[in-house]
Amino acid sequence: IFSGPISFLKSAPQLQFLPDPTAPEIAFAGRSNVGKSSLINALTGRNGLARTSNTPGRTQELNFFDIGDTSNGPPIFRICDMPGYGFAKAPPKVVQKWRYLINDYLRGRQVLKRTFVLIDSRHGIKNTDENVLEMLDKAAVSYRIVMTKADKVKTTELEATKEKVIAAAKKHPAAHPELIITSSEKKQGIDALRMAVLEAVQI
Ligand code: GDP
Repeated sequence: IFSGPISFLKSAPQLQFLPDPTAPEIAFAGRSNVGKSSLINALTGRNGLARTSNTPGRTQELNFFDIGDTSNGPPIFRICDMPGYGFAKAPPKVVQKWRYLINDYLRGRQVLKRTFVLIDSRHGIKNTDENVLEMLDKAAVSYRIVMTKADKVKTTELEATKEKVIAAAKKHPAAHPELIITSSEKKQGIDALRMAVLEAVQI
């Protein structure tokens, strides 16, 4: 599936611009700079598909990608790249806009099968991540936590952070109990992530 056609579909700054719900979707969420664009590029094997964000918080839009051929109808599934959150010095207006957009999307989207919440292996779960996990719980969207940049920490540190993240995830009803550990840089955990994505969309 990941060696077939994959293309950018559209950006949705507001809900009325969402694609028609004609295919199952999975979403990626994470703090700004968590490595989300790099991971989407590694997952799809397309460099430059998701643009790496050098201006944190610039893109307050949901970006959709089609996975699979779209010449004869809907793709196999879609990826929704959510705008990064939790960047320092974000004006309250921007934060509020983000919350409205994400909440509306999460609550109304029947085709959304699972969200992958990215957590930086160096930082673990921050308050802003906790807020997002709560939003997902409330919207009853199942999610799975993916640790990013695993190459940046020592094994002992990674183990300690994993335990903390697993303990935190256990308090969240909609969280999958198992983590996926990845490094886009070292291409670690990418196959596991692909399997989890295909499982989520039931392919
Ligand atoms: P985004 O803001 O969440 O989309 O994050 P990006 O994908 O743009 O990555 C932010 C920064 O982290 C960039 O400088 C990337 O090169 C770096 N980065 C992303 N993934 C990895 C990784 O797995 N390992 C390392 N060492 N650096 C990474």
